[in-house]
Amino acid sequence: MLKAVIFDIDGTLYDYDAAHARAFAALTDYACDAFGLTPARFEELHHEADMLLRQRAGVNCAAIHNRLLRYQVILELTGQPVGFAPTLERLYWDTLLLWMKPNSGLHEAFDFIKSKGLILGIGTNMTADWQYVKLEKLGVLHQVDFMVTSEETSAEKPDPRLFELCTEKAKCPPSECAFVGDSLKGDALGAKAAGMRPIWLHDGAVTTVDFPTIPSLEALPDLLAKEC
Ligand SMILES: [Mg+2]
Repeated sequence: MLKAVIFDIDGTLYDYDAAHARAFAALTDYACDAFGLTPARFEELHHEADMLLRQRAGVNCAAIHNRLLRYQVILELTGQPVGFAPTLERLYWDTLLLWMKPNSGLHEAFDFIKSKGLILGIGTNMTADWQYVKLEKLGVLHQVDFMVTSEETSAEKPDPRLFELCTEKAKCPPSECAFVGDSLKGDALGAKAAGMRPIWLHDGAVTTVDFPTIPSLEALPDLLAKEC
């Protein structure tokens, strides 16, 4: 019997790649203008800062997604005042939020889950602050029963600690939790290893997996209807 449905956010509830491309372009334009960099050099610096942050913070924690830290490191690398870091961060997120659109079927899927009295949770690799803002902008925050972020667990999917906290908050055994996400390794295989029921959001060719896949969230209500 299905009791809870837990969702990844980025790439699952909205098209992260499309919104990120817009945000990164705006950030690149600003940085090149303000600091006299070429777009190629800015991209290099971004990568370099990402690697440095991973060395300093470790790879299995939400700090590696913290753009304020990443932009601070870029400014340090270029000898610019770190006071620009919040401006860069806000520019990135404001632009991403502007272009972020709910994936088709999102609202219908969330409405279906609530109508069936199922618990609706979030399990995401990221700091909590911006994930709340994204859910609010997507218009679904009021429907979310619980949140688990890798900031809270100090562990990133597919680390079992994040999935364990999801089941603890859902207050039901993992076998009664479905986990919906677009990452095969992080979401589907991680949820499966934790004893949950994975649902892989994947619109490409599927090779051999022994759990359900859906090409879009539009297909989710029908699939869940069979399970509850
Ligand atoms: Mg994702």
